[in-house]
Amino acid sequence: MAVLTCQGVRKEFGGRVVLDGLDLTVDEHQVVALIGASGSGKSTLLRCVNLLEELDDGTITLDGEEISDPRVDPDRVRRRIGMVFQSYNLFPHLSVLENVTLAPRRVHRRARADAEAQARELLARVGLADRADAYPDRLSGGQQQRVAIVRALANSPRLMLLDEVTSALDPELVGEVLAMIRDLKADGMTMVLATHEMGFAREVADQVCFLDAGRVVEAGPPARVFGEPTQPRTRQFLRRII
Ligand code: ADP
Ligand code: MG
Repeated sequence: MAVLTCQGVRKEFGGRVVLDGLDLTVDEHQVVALIGASGSGKSTLLRCVNLLEELDDGTITLDGEEISDPRVDPDRVRRRIGMVFQSYNLFPHLSVLENVTLAPRRVHRRARADAEAQARELLARVGLADRADAYPDRLSGGQQQRVAIVRALANSPRLMLLDEVTSALDPELVGEVLAMIRDLKADGMTMVLATHEMGFAREVADQVCFLDAGRVVEAGPPARVFGEPTQPRTRQFLRRII
């Protein structure tokens, strides 16, 4: 059963086509890695899925519901999706615990004690229990990004969208964030991640999609896409970056 289906997704900015009839299917518990040059449309696709952009054509379906229908309430959809960005976007004036419990309390109307208990458990699971009362500026970049992921998980999402979540980190901090994503996969979380960490995509993804000019040019298991790419554009891209 597909959690996410994108069919013929088209997005233009000022007459420039950025997503050009893009198709993508993500099954339950699957991890899909989006790779491709800067500007190929990875972030725009993730933003479309989270209804941060309106489509110019095509449909997006989440758990069988056509969420790209303009009559759908975006807030209701976003409650089922966790999104994490390159720049962690934690609220600087809120503690770690407050950052994580904000949406569960405000959006999901959970009781404070209940939301805090869940947040502390999630933080403990990623080794951040002792940072619950700290403010973001007291945390390393890797810790902040792990909190941002915990914050997204606190909504118990059906689907996680991760957009270059290690790109802003110092190299020595990348590993702890990747380890967390690895654990999420082991827990069965369905994820779509845009990444330029090819080694990680190879290891963690069930399916790799190579985007070029707003289309999926090649998709398949990582061993196949990285090992025997069939499309000249994929080969060219991989030659340049590996
Ligand atoms: P990627 O994440 O693969 O690097 P993006 O989805 O960010 O690619 O961008 C794809 C193209 O769309 C780029 O050329 C970018 O400049 C353009 N683009 C993205 N967002 C906007 C926007 N809000 N307005 C205009 N152009 C945009
Ligand atoms: Mg991007």
